[in-house]
Amino acid sequence: MQVHDFLSEQQLNCIREKVSQGIANIQERLSSEQNTCLSEGVSMPDPTDRATLETERSCGAALRNREEKQLLNLRKVLGRLTHKLDEFGFCEGCGIEIDYDRLIGVPTAVKCLECQRIEEYKKGQMH
Ligand SMILES: [Zn+2]
Repeated sequence: MQVHDFLSEQQLNCIREKVSQGIANIQERLSSEQNTCLSEGVSMPDPTDRATLETERSCGAALRNREEKQLLNLRKVLGRLTHKLDEFGFCEGCGIEIDYDRLIGVPTAVKCLECQRIEEYKKGQMH
């Protein structure tokens, strides 16, 4: 069994569970969304309604994109948790250990709070 540098087996299992749950949630949302889209498409032949529908669909697409991105991130995290444990839990910015509290709250976090703050600050300046 792989042993993590600073997280206990129990903590790792909690994070794994949280990530798996997140993946299941998104997959469920994505599949139910798809069904709604299809049924809406058939029941609205009117051009005006279709225009509205297009707008709604593009909104839905943006949301879907975000969800799919999140899903990808979660899968990546789960892959790390399973196969590359030594790469999990360290900040990509400065390499320090990310707190368990932060990881369980945001399992996809790849940066420590400090680096995250700096990144957000930089992003804020670009706008
Ligand atoms: Zn950092």
